[in-house]
Amino acid sequence: MAASADPRATERIVIENCSIATVDAHDTEYASGHVVVAGNRIESVGAGSAPDGLAGVVRRVDGTGHLVTPGLVNTHHHFYQWITRGLATDHNLFDWLVALYPTWARIDEPMARAAAQGSLAMMARGGVTTAMDHHYVYPRGSGDLSGAIIGAARDMGIRFTLARGSMDRSEKDGGLPPDFAVETLDGALAATEATIDAHHDASSDAMTRIAVAPCSPFSVSTELLRQGAELARRRGVRLHTHGSETVEEEQFCKELFGMGPTDYFESTGWLGDDVWMAHCVHMNDSDIAAFARTGTGVAHCPSSNARLAAGIARVPDMLAAGVPVGLGVDGTASNESGELHTELRNALLINRLGARREKALNARQALRLGTYGGAQVLGRAGEIGSLEAGKLADLVLWKLDTLAHASIADPVTALVFGAAAPVTLSLVNGRPVVEDNHLITVDEDAIARATRDEARRLATIAAGA
Ligand SMILES: [Zn+2]
Repeated sequence: MAASADPRATERIVIENCSIATVDAHDTEYASGHVVVAGNRIESVGAGSAPDGLAGVVRRVDGTGHLVTPGLVNTHHHFYQWITRGLATDHNLFDWLVALYPTWARIDEPMARAAAQGSLAMMARGGVTTAMDHHYVYPRGSGDLSGAIIGAARDMGIRFTLARGSMDRSEKDGGLPPDFAVETLDGALAATEATIDAHHDASSDAMTRIAVAPCSPFSVSTELLRQGAELARRRGVRLHTHGSETVEEEQFCKELFGMGPTDYFESTGWLGDDVWMAHCVHMNDSDIAAFARTGTGVAHCPSSNARLAAGIARVPDMLAAGVPVGLGVDGTASNESGELHTELRNALLINRLGARREKALNARQALRLGTYGGAQVLGRAGEIGSLEAGKLADLVLWKLDTLAHASIADPVTALVFGAAAPVTLSLVNGRPVVEDNHLITVDEDAIARATRDEARRLATIAAGA
């Protein structure tokens, strides 16, 4: 589909005197270079100063002391959990879910809006330019939760995929969620299709996309997986779910379906180059080969996997096999920081755990996971994820000349191995979202107050349930 005409196409922003990591196919880097943005697209990237005589320059940025990278792409999250952080802190996945389902089942539209604003603000301030939310809790009578979440991303100016989740396998059907927390099969499918109708934008510079996203093998029926896959393919949208997160999930699948999670997904139509799955921790060689053969993507969530003691995903093996891999914050009830830039570092460190794994993952691979890899698993590698002429202008200027980073030899190493770097400027679709480490599109303090108030309201309601 053709890109929509951008009335700002003749307005240029010029960024110069900065280090640049393009994350293109050759990992091209410039020790001192320039980026020219025209409207919502990158016009040129290269060494030295920007070309002379550019017309329509509305802003010129001196990037001295900075590294410019593509904006970070988050590939797995649950925004609503922003208002249930810090609970069940010493639990494994299944115990943690059972502890939290009753509270989550009480969320309503104002809570979903505030939690989305909090989640998005935290990520955007840390260099995320494309976010996603896997939302799967839709209590009856709770209002337009999807609309509230999408509105929060639109107001902040963040590129966004809502993975419209669902659950229809409750305790009475052998599932994990309580009966009151699930939708019906038909209700979930109809609501998912209505969300595609209302919000999905297939154009190349889309700010909002929708994916079909039943929650997990232990919370959805086989029929919801099958019909969900058919719906997604009929409508040309992507498919997302959780897969192979814990040993308990593997055991659940073997007991109920007589096979492991990857074989079960394959039997329900859930492997393919239009599918990406969160976690994929417990994958054997044949599972990884199946993902590589089908082009199925992975959202690697190292902090959440550590928080819930789920295990270590075999990311180096996946990359060697050719599996597309991006990074995910995961919900902030299992990763209280809610930041993606720290996941670059955690991905690198966690994948080096164990004997003789010093070459398991390097800094440039970690940066690629958080940018181009994320774009790949969201099906947008032709549009975002690297700094190349013609791509959408989603980029970040990381400040690396202060105490935390100034003495680290190389800028990409500083960004990945060092402390979380401040963001001097981020552009999404060519528009500034962060300036001098603060969001300029929304009021951070107002969001902080709203999230605190909604977290208290939810806790009060849940306590009275
Ligand atoms: Zn998750």
